Amino acid sequence: MSTQLTSSFPKPLEKLSEIEIKRKACIAKVMTYTLGNLTSQFVRNGFEWLLPVALSQSTDPLWPDPGASIEKRIEIDIYGKTVRTTASMIIHKLIASSIAYPKLFILSPNIRIEKPDRAKTGLHIYEFSQLDFEIRDATSKYVMNLVENSIQDLITNLQKDMKKELITLCTYDTIKIPKIPFKIYDRCDLEAKYGEKWETEISEKSSDPIWITNIPREFYDYEDFETKEWDNYDLFLPKYGEVLSGAKREWEYSKILKKIERDKINKENYKLVLQLSKEGKIKPTSGGGIGLERLVGWISGVKHIAETQPFPRIPGWVHEL
Ligand code: AMP
Ligand code: MG
Repeated sequence: MSTQLTSSFPKPLEKLSEIEIKRKACIAKVMTYTLGNLTSQFVRNGFEWLLPVALSQSTDPLWPDPGASIEKRIEIDIYGKTVRTTASMIIHKLIASSIAYPKLFILSPNIRIEKPDRAKTGLHIYEFSQLDFEIRDATSKYVMNLVENSIQDLITNLQKDMKKELITLCTYDTIKIPKIPFKIYDRCDLEAKYGEKWETEISEKSSDPIWITNIPREFYDYEDFETKEWDNYDLFLPKYGEVLSGAKREWEYSKILKKIERDKINKENYKLVLQLSKEGKIKPTSGGGIGLERLVGWISGVKHIAETQPFPRIPGWVHEL
């Protein structure tokens, strides 16, 4: 079933007016600048830049995550094996940073067939890209500090080098250089204060990027079984909400197995990570993934993040390109 694409959703290239093409070109310049800035920062900081994969037996279960809303998972058979399209490269990152590349990043394509009603949020598309990174032996604090510095550097340089584009997009005066460190909120406190809708409430209320920690979710994020606290963190942008999810990761076999079983996830799809952790080859790492369309959408002040895509991927709507 597909939803009717209303005029308020971003249009495909061939339907844009002259003025809309100019706006699209400005957003493309901001995207190009953002990709150049962030990838250069990671390379300068000694990270290896890995190329992505699109098909694997093992991908992100996206479960249990309170934010996930997947309508369908894509699986196909190749060479006698069932493979899945990349939902995120988390499993690849855990293994790659444990074994061969202690500091890595990937511009990773993520396919998540979101339910059609998610088109209305303006924040969900069914194909998007993450700047996904992982660091062996790093703490959450280290990663949060790295992200804060990266975002501060990006905005500072955008204001210098992309002034004309930001003025055209009407965000030159609204996107401020964020002060470091960003404020940190515990999800439990937000839930107690705002109830179920804490995510929307806090992103509406904050005028700076903020961290939210301690969110129960997938097995690979670190959970202290005694205190029941999760050592993870999401970065929220004012009005736009979650732009990054990250965590310190689990590495111990017994915990990974217990959590996979608890979440009723098919162990078959995580055989390698289970085996490697049993052999002590999965190392403690921390990392995260930045949704590039959301980040650039915020910087550009878009109504719908599909505006940042040359070929919009709006849930419920399939275009020829
Ligand atoms: P997740 O693994 O679900 O935490 O996703 C990591 C990041 O990818 C999020 O923080 C968002 O920035 C981005 N993201 C997740 N789902 C979507 C989506 N459907 N459309 C666009 N960006 C997304
Ligand atoms: Mg998330």
